Amino acid sequence: SAANSPSAPAPPRAPASVRVSAPGKINVSLLVGPPRPDGYHGVASVYLAVSLFEEVHATATDTDGVTVTVQSDGALHVPVAGIPLGPDNLAARAAQALAAHTGHPAAVHLHIIKRVPVAGGMGGGSADAAAALVACNALWNTGLSNEELAGIAAGLGADVPFSLLGGAAVGLGVGDRLAPALSETPLHWVLAASDSGLSTPAVYGALDALRAEQQIQVPEPEAADPSILAAVRSGNARDLAAVMSNDLQDAALALAPELAGLLRAGERLGALAGMVSGSGPTIAFLTADTDAAAELETALRAEGHRALAVLGPVPGARLLPAVAG
Ligand code: ATP
Repeated sequence: SAANSPSAPAPPRAPASVRVSAPGKINVSLLVGPPRPDGYHGVASVYLAVSLFEEVHATATDTDGVTVTVQSDGALHVPVAGIPLGPDNLAARAAQALAAHTGHPAAVHLHIIKRVPVAGGMGGGSADAAAALVACNALWNTGLSNEELAGIAAGLGADVPFSLLGGAAVGLGVGDRLAPALSETPLHWVLAASDSGLSTPAVYGALDALRAEQQIQVPEPEAADPSILAAVRSGNARDLAAVMSNDLQDAALALAPELAGLLRAGERLGALAGMVSGSGPTIAFLTADTDAAAELETALRAEGHRALAVLGPVPGARLLPAVAG
């Protein structure tokens, strides 16, 4: 048989197709500074990767160029119609950036399985970019280290390096200067999706306007709140519920007032606390344990909301086993 015949070892062959998953995130703390001259805002963020994963399937193609398809999947029933499929797609930009960095031809098809709400404040597009970097690095045998991939990731968007890293981390700068935070005890959350997408720049703009109106001056944030970090490290949900906060929440509520009712509903139905995730409009409710999260998921769904129990921290972007066949 072929298995017994003497032959030279097979040369290492790049796979024809690879699958990678990458998590969405919530910010359990988000301090936002004043607008900088470059238009960005300095932040101090405590990121938590949660068990809502994007998947990117990368397949080698014969012709140069990146093509993209997107499929909606999962309990939050994410509408995907508005996502760009051309060169503006964040996964396509990631593949192009890796090709430019390595000199490898960008001949690839990317199929995105979308579970993270689009423009939802959970970094879903960033997760697609992180997944595409890991996928193309494997598909093309380009062998970049995690550090090198993180360098490319930072050029793609503030949340892309965190989706590569996963776990829990403090993010400074625009969120891309990351320091991992150790956390061994998972926290249990329920995500509630909203139909109103919020544009991240619009929410930052609304925050600047609110602060100007109220004559509030804030310093450039230089560190994450130690009490929030301590609660994440210990996995103590009650401690975290008392201190978690998001400077963008009032701005998101000003742009999407219906979120206030959703926040109240979750707290009435048993959440320890609820908060807008990042720039919103997704709401993250913290619960005491798995059972409490399952109960809150059921109760929110009974009231007609799209809700999903998740936990975090979870790992960052990683290769999934090849599918047989
Ligand atoms: P963040 O929290 O990282 O600021 P977000 O989670 O609020 O962002 P995303 O879903 O990551 O929002 O993307 C915002 C916009 O980016 C979308 O409205 C869409 O037009 C564009 N976009 C480009 N590529 C993608 C992608 N792969 N998935 C989703 N949106 C994408």
